[in-house]
Amino acid sequence: MGMFDWVDYECTCDICKGKVTGFQTKDSDRLLALLSPFDIGNFYSVCNKCGCWVDIKRDGESFVKTTYSIKGWKKKVLKERKVKIRRKK
Ligand SMILES: [Zn+2]
Repeated sequence: MGMFDWVDYECTCDICKGKVTGFQTKDSDRLLALLSPFDIGNFYSVCNKCGCWVDIKRDGESFVKTTYSIKGWKKKVLKERKVKIRRKK
């Protein structure tokens, strides 16, 4: 049994412009399946380059991307903006 599912999404880090891959979600069955961003409400990953967390929340067809850093137990939001995600056919 898995702990999460993978999300079929990649983006560029808003802080360092590095590539952010490996998005995960706990919104579904957590069986390591590959899900579409449009099937879930929330997914997240970590930038490989600068270590920032990237959290994406869906509201219908629109998405809000929050980039934040974690130091110890402190979470600091660095950037928050709407992003467009294309539905794959
Ligand atoms: Zn980065």
